[in-house]
Amino acid sequence: MSAAEPPAPAAVRKMRVVLASNNRGKLGELTALLAPLGLELIAQSELGVSAAEEPHPSFLENALAKARHASGATGLPAIADDSGICVSALDGRPGVRSARYAAQGEAESDDASNNARLLEELAGVADRHAYYYCALVLVRTPDDPCPLIAEGRWHGTVTQAARGTGGFGYDPYFLIPELGRTAAELDPAHKNRISHRGQAMRVLAQLLASEAQR
Ligand code: IMP
Repeated sequence: MSAAEPPAPAAVRKMRVVLASNNRGKLGELTALLAPLGLELIAQSELGVSAAEEPHPSFLENALAKARHASGATGLPAIADDSGICVSALDGRPGVRSARYAAQGEAESDDASNNARLLEELAGVADRHAYYYCALVLVRTPDDPCPLIAEGRWHGTVTQAARGTGGFGYDPYFLIPELGRTAAELDPAHKNRISHRGQAMRVLAQLLASEAQR
């Protein structure tokens, strides 16, 4: 741009980014969290992108697979998260299988069955510590060699009984001891401020901001 040229209007500068998730709960949270970055976000379902395979043992590898898949299918930069709950007494399970915990194969199981399985596995177990983990990545192209990578971790304990009606997934059983409330008892803005996804989003926002300054 020459010195005489006016800056591009905001609508032109806005980066169009595909959001590589089909999970309604996560889409809502990610959209709210990403809004302040001024990106133009498009859910992959709006562009007819199918769900990607998530065959990897780590959250990070699965998040990258989802983002690369969405970017390849659309030709746009893509943001993906992979997240789940890791329970210490269960050696980190359900981990990357959080969405499929109660299922035998690769199909997703519903929240109620996943929570029932978790309570079953923890029956009689004293150590109820768990954390939610989120890997959040942005790829500019399908083969981007330098993806932006952020992570977040949110510690809590697994309760015996459900409390609260907000959130999704394991939230009614995920107690934040210092608040004395489950994640499902927090209002959405509060959850987004402190959650694993909120933490990862702030890191991604910083990475994007420092990239924009170069
Ligand atoms: P993904 O879509 O493959 O990343 O699977 C994420 C799964 O982890 C969800 O379906 C939930 O079971 C669980 N999960 C991730 N984040 C949260 C959260 O914030 N609250 C409750 N459950 C979550």
